[in-house]
Amino acid sequence: MDSEELNKKWQAMSEDVNAGVAEWRQQHPRATFREIEAEGDRRLDEFRARMLSDTANLGVSAEWKENQDGPVCPKCGAKLVGKGKKKRRLQTRGGREVEIEREYGVCPQCGQGIFPPG
Ligand SMILES: [Zn+2]
Repeated sequence: MDSEELNKKWQAMSEDVNAGVAEWRQQHPRATFREIEAEGDRRLDEFRARMLSDTANLGVSAEWKENQDGPVCPKCGAKLVGKGKKKRRLQTRGGREVEIEREYGVCPQCGQGIFPPG
């Protein structure tokens, strides 16, 4: 997925958030400001989590491809052997769990498995 596709995806997602909040408001005409805030936060956190995960996945695959030599081991400097993509679960600040895909490498010298930074 390239950045243009992502833009379209996020645009559609943010429209969903807006429409969802508006619809929720119609169903909860007596909601207090705090309740509205909580509902808005919940939906925005979800949007944020998906956006972060998309962005993280986009950045790393680009980096791995551009760098012809590939990442090196931070301990001994040997070139990492790519082991394909692995999924990692991370927590966002809003408490959402996101799954990001990371290219995973293993050092042939010291055997350490590494998710290159990105
Ligand atoms: Zn090493």
